[in-house]
Amino acid sequence: MNHADRAHALLSASGAHRWMNCTPSAVLESKFPDTTSEAAKEGTLAHELAEAKLQNYVNTKEFSKRKLTNRIKKLKENELWQNEMDGFTDDYMDFIRREALRFEATPYVAIEEKLDLETYVPGGFGTADCIMIGGGTIEIIDFKYGKGVPVAAEENPQLMLYALGAHEKYNFLYGFSEVRLSIVQPRIGNNSTWTLSLDDLLAFGEKVKAAAAIAAEGGGEFHPGDWCRFCRAKAQCRARAEENVKLAFQTERKPELLTNDEIGRFLDQGEDVAKWLKDLQEYALAQCLGGKEVAGWKAVEGRGTRDWVDMDKAFEIIIASGTPQEMLWEKKPLTLAQVEKVVGKKEFATEVGDYVVKKPGKPTLVRESDKRPAITNKISADEVFN
Ligand code: SF4
Repeated sequence: MNHADRAHALLSASGAHRWMNCTPSAVLESKFPDTTSEAAKEGTLAHELAEAKLQNYVNTKEFSKRKLTNRIKKLKENELWQNEMDGFTDDYMDFIRREALRFEATPYVAIEEKLDLETYVPGGFGTADCIMIGGGTIEIIDFKYGKGVPVAAEENPQLMLYALGAHEKYNFLYGFSEVRLSIVQPRIGNNSTWTLSLDDLLAFGEKVKAAAAIAAEGGGEFHPGDWCRFCRAKAQCRARAEENVKLAFQTERKPELLTNDEIGRFLDQGEDVAKWLKDLQEYALAQCLGGKEVAGWKAVEGRGTRDWVDMDKAFEIIIASGTPQEMLWEKKPLTLAQVEKVVGKKEFATEVGDYVVKKPGKPTLVRESDKRPAITNKISADEVFN
């Protein structure tokens, strides 16, 4: 199936986290055009490559090595192709192979399976990248090419919906009591798996059914939160605006000094304010450029930059007047990440992996739920005595 052609239902599985938390968002969002970003197109291309590799792994006879090579050749013609896609989709395949080995016997594998979610979500459907079934377990594996934020499998409504759709489709044939949900996000090294019982999945199904019935009618209360950043109404939404203005200008209390508890809370509450202002600025700029009025604001030309009309000719003149050529050029190596991109992930690791050392990053403030262990500057007893 062409990944770019996957139609989007009003209540899409990928948007479930948003419309379950803010039920009127689905209908409100449908008033805005569904645009595709460059990053999404890149993701589509990587998905097509991942699908081809998986087809070759599972259906080797019908989808031979030769067919795979031809398919990859075709995908490489796409202007968004990058060599690193090969390595990242290999990571996805490595994960699939490892998961397949967890099953006692070779599992049944479905690739790019379109799932009917109508029982739970009006007009709902979804496409699962990979489904494995065997020995009373069903596993849904989702390949994510984004590198913005790590996506967790735990209580992930999109994957839980796919699992419900897969249950409808396969349970009478295979019967299973355990559900495994996995996300492979190779660009940021995030592999996340969560296991739940079929009973818990079906309980979620009842919850999602109730939320979907309200959301399909545009009912319920607007509820701004983390999910707003994926909402097409995010710049103009009144509820989000009011919430952020309230958060940005809370003046009811004026403590002289904030406690660490309060700082934690303010950081938490204020996180969306900066994002919301940026969304608002982008929206207002588009309005002004479109000839609409935004009270008190206008679009102007930003600071321009200088550029050569004919650099070769200009350099010729400068060199002729006495400046040595070497002074006009600098030789700079690409960054490590850029070299890896050019060479390809696997080749990079095999050929020069021994010459790479990982230096610790700068201390960063993250949420408590982040998987990385916490660090401090305090010297531990172990360090003192050793
Ligand atoms: S921007 Fe946020 S609050 Fe507004 S409709 Fe979308 S999800 Fe709901």
